[in-house]
Amino acid sequence: MFKLEELPYGFDFLEPVIDAQTMEIHYTKHHQAYVDNLNKAVEANNLQNKSLEDLLNNDLAVVKNNAGGVWNHDFFWSLMTKADSVQPSDPLRSVLSASFGSFEQFKSDFETAGLGRFGSGWVWLVKNIDGKLEILSTPNQDNPLVLGKTPVLGCDVWEHAYYLKYQNRRAEYLKNWWRLVNWEKVESLAR
Ligand code: MN
Repeated sequence: MFKLEELPYGFDFLEPVIDAQTMEIHYTKHHQAYVDNLNKAVEANNLQNKSLEDLLNNDLAVVKNNAGGVWNHDFFWSLMTKADSVQPSDPLRSVLSASFGSFEQFKSDFETAGLGRFGSGWVWLVKNIDGKLEILSTPNQDNPLVLGKTPVLGCDVWEHAYYLKYQNRRAEYLKNWWRLVNWEKVESLAR
């Protein structure tokens, strides 16, 4: 049985960028539902011996989608911290500049990819097998691991992640979201 991982902070911890009500619904309803529905699908299809990562690539949409929903949200919560509390280090800025032209260009490209995701999905910074960093977007709860790419940073651009506070303004959500990123964690994953 998969469990809902404990949220590493309270619902109001990410205020004012992400409001407490959004966090509470996102975690206790959406994330919980992915866990519950994954457990049902695992049981119905005798997949109890599989890891969460194995299930991301399952042929059954109900398994793949809910496994992605669990993995992606665990990752998302872990990447965020108190607004403006962690700044990107010079070495991390250098790595991102080398890959995308400049740190500002990296952020701009990431926002563009998030805005360009039609419907629901995620925008990611990933590391390829050759170590090269890349920005990409996936639909629904698809996970880059399936493509052989390791997530370094990921932002949920489903409307449920921002609609109560930002309504249709996904661009504003993405711009504000940078304030929450735990760059120390990003740096450790980008290495
Ligand atoms: Mn979500």
